[in-house]
Amino acid sequence: MVEGLMQDYELSLQHVLWRIERLHQKKEVVTKRDEGIHRTNYGEMVPRINRLAGALKRLGVKPGDRVATLAWNNNRHLELYYAVPCMGAVLHTLNLRLFPQHLEFIINDAEDKVLFVDQSLLPILKPLIGKIPTIQTIVLLAEGPAPAADGMPEMLDYEALLAAESEGYPWPKLSERMAAAMCYTSGTTGNPKGVVYSHRSQFIHTMGVLQGDNLALQESDSLLPVVPMFHANSWGLPYAAGMAGSKVVFGGRFSADPKSIVELAEEEEVTFLAGVPTVWIALGAYLNESGKRLPRVRTVVCGGSAVPQALMETMDALGLRILHAWGMTETSPLGSVARVAAGTKPEDELRLRLTQGRVAPGVEIRICEPSTGEELPWDGVAFGEIQVRGPWIARGYHNGYDPGKLTEDGWFRTGDVAKITPDGYIVIVDRTKDVIKSGGEWISSVELENAVMAHPKIMEAAVIGLPHSKWDERPVVYAVPKPEFKGKVTQEEIVEFLKDKVAKWWLPDEVRFIDEVPKTSVGKFDKKVLRASAVPITEGATPGARR
Ligand code: ADP
Repeated sequence: MVEGLMQDYELSLQHVLWRIERLHQKKEVVTKRDEGIHRTNYGEMVPRINRLAGALKRLGVKPGDRVATLAWNNNRHLELYYAVPCMGAVLHTLNLRLFPQHLEFIINDAEDKVLFVDQSLLPILKPLIGKIPTIQTIVLLAEGPAPAADGMPEMLDYEALLAAESEGYPWPKLSERMAAAMCYTSGTTGNPKGVVYSHRSQFIHTMGVLQGDNLALQESDSLLPVVPMFHANSWGLPYAAGMAGSKVVFGGRFSADPKSIVELAEEEEVTFLAGVPTVWIALGAYLNESGKRLPRVRTVVCGGSAVPQALMETMDALGLRILHAWGMTETSPLGSVARVAAGTKPEDELRLRLTQGRVAPGVEIRICEPSTGEELPWDGVAFGEIQVRGPWIARGYHNGYDPGKLTEDGWFRTGDVAKITPDGYIVIVDRTKDVIKSGGEWISSVELENAVMAHPKIMEAAVIGLPHSKWDERPVVYAVPKPEFKGKVTQEEIVEFLKDKVAKWWLPDEVRFIDEVPKTSVGKFDKKVLRASAVPITEGATPGARR
């Protein structure tokens, strides 16, 4: 073999730290706090990141140790995003919306050593005290020393810890294969599983996020990541912002509140937003109601669940252009982005923007028949499980859970069912566990939801399959009317509306009106909760047609 003569430069997050220190000192990092807006910049943050690394070392954190965060999107959380991996430890972001027993499992599974917690999140931590023995130190992310709280052990004060250290930390030489961060899947089936990102995967993923045909975050952007910093590393945006030098705006604990998003976006001249569809459904409603607009915003990244057509159209009408992306915790998370290919006819654009898009450069994709593993053609018709491989795709989970997620030939099985068009656009039909099996054929719950959400009186809708004696499963719609139509929309109306939009045998057996669709910890429709509390279908007494 003739070797190339390029340097073996380790791909690590220290490079991003180097960039914010050398190139982006003046770039602001703004956080909405209870007491008002907090304003800093990378120039002020870098010395604090150095001090934080010193404090971690003094607390006994060694390379590879897990350091947990239970925090909102804010500047201190961003400091941890840099200091922990860059000093060789592993940043473990805890999902603050999980049930206590899940948090307990996760902290013990990861064997976290130190935990950083926002003051307002102490009530979430309290029930875990005494049950998380690996945690040696709790550090409070607050302005002053921790007040003695009932039932809480002694906590260290973040600002005091930083004040005691020096501004020049001797950053160690890191190997790119080292673990940098850890994030658990939501545990929709069984216990959550730890996904472990390496410095290399984070570095390459960051470059992917920045790429022009992907999210294309730029230096000139002002980024407001509504997506929490505990949700798949906030989709890689904090590091992408550091690499590019974008201004960053954090909503703190007000992140998901449409009014706060709009105020922050207006005041901080935000150009780039990112979040799950439910956030934008609420934002669209608020903008329409208030008459406000956000003309500076050029991109609204939307992923985590399929983007309903009605949402895309509402946002288009408001001048907010949604960029649809697909991914999962195990894919760092960026997997694909729905950019419209050059030469597309204007009338086809919306259809393409509603697909999950084309796979990101650096990632390979295929669809396979789940039972036989046979690879299926990209003909826009055949559908099977999405499998992916690439430098930022998981090859396993912490502690070796679920080895079956990797195929024998090394592809990651996503559990998503999709078809792929001949020009590479992915169309997700459903998650394997959500697809409705009716009379031996599949009904896409996602497609049916989108059709219902296109009804002018409906704000949100989730569809689940419920047991049926003849057909195995039949679809039932749970719909939330828009406030002005509460009590003024009927099941017959919805079924009638669907008749020319979906196949006759897809028509739901029942439409049940509810006040709110239950949401998961990251704001997606929680069909597990709907299923668990669903009353059985009243067979034969409903207007939905059957085959
Ligand atoms: P959780 O299990 O908590 O939802 P993730 O955030 O990792 O964890 O979710 C990944 C899953 O979310 C994907 O496997 C897919 O089912 C769904 N998903 C993500 N983005 C999209 C999208 N754009 N369209 C449809 N489904 C999506």
